[in-house]
Amino acid sequence: MSKKKKIRYDRLVLVILLFILVVFLLVKAVSIFKAHLTVNNSESSVEVSSVINDSDSEDSNEELSSLDSVPDQENNEVYQKNKETLLEGMIEIPELDELLKCADFNFDLLPRYLLEIRNNNTDYQEAVRLVNENKDYIPSDQLDMSSYYTGDILIENPSSLTACVNKVYTLSSDYEPDDLVYLEEGYYGNYQPLRKEAAGAFMSLSIDAQNLGYSRIVAYSNYRSYETQKGIYERYVSNDGAALADTYSARAGHSEHQTGLVSDIAKVGDIYTSFDEYEGYQWALENAHKYGLIQRFPENKEYITGYVFESWHFRYVGIEAATIMDEHNWTLDEYALIFGYE
Ligand SMILES: [Zn+2]
Repeated sequence: MSKKKKIRYDRLVLVILLFILVVFLLVKAVSIFKAHLTVNNSESSVEVSSVINDSDSEDSNEELSSLDSVPDQENNEVYQKNKETLLEGMIEIPELDELLKCADFNFDLLPRYLLEIRNNNTDYQEAVRLVNENKDYIPSDQLDMSSYYTGDILIENPSSLTACVNKVYTLSSDYEPDDLVYLEEGYYGNYQPLRKEAAGAFMSLSIDAQNLGYSRIVAYSNYRSYETQKGIYERYVSNDGAALADTYSARAGHSEHQTGLVSDIAKVGDIYTSFDEYEGYQWALENAHKYGLIQRFPENKEYITGYVFESWHFRYVGIEAATIMDEHNWTLDEYALIFGYE
């Protein structure tokens, strides 16, 4: 009997000890859990900032919008950093403030962000992503170049060196530059004038090319009046139809040739359409901006200009503007989105 009693007593002690142990473990577990929660809360700001810095994270926007105080500061840093890349003299751009808040904003691509937002109603962050990945690009053969005529806007300062004449921005039928001059003998193909400053630039380009051992460059097709352009375009339409004519020829009022700042240039003795076969072509492309000249309808920018690639069509815009366009890889259409159509 006494042995049995002893055994029961031992069991009771064991049960009590086990109970104490279980209670102790539970209390310990709860306190560890509470401590863990506290640490998580205090570290959350660190986690948020690492999410913001990770530009590839697709969730970063949600993280930003769900947490208010810390991201404001982070946003501000991104905004300030992006703002430093802007240039002086830009026109007011309604979308700019929102775009500057985007972490992957690239100033060189700002004109394309604007086109993406304005033409396709894309939201800011998505426009930045699409353009950064070159997904706004449309190959030339998939473009409807007549669709770029969306309604005429008259250019206020047609004599401005950076007036952007395109399929929307037009010159009035009576606009004629008042400083047209003829190039020196041997430097023009057709006897058509150019504005004085432009004529000087084309002459200098040609002279420097020759000094480097390349063939002479000839300004082939230069100033055209509204009436001349009207006749040319109508002839192309009757030959090729409007859809095809719109890929390579401008409707009256929409031709840059009416500015007197443009020449279709050629190697002497060649037709201008083979200017890209000229031995000094690469040199001309790389150095044109130093003379204030730009290739107006470059390759791979057809979806922006609304014209097929024209290796020969060069436009005078002045050295400062041409240098900005060269540095940022902008066409005049892109430059005008930032600095105005004039
Ligand atoms: Zn031309």
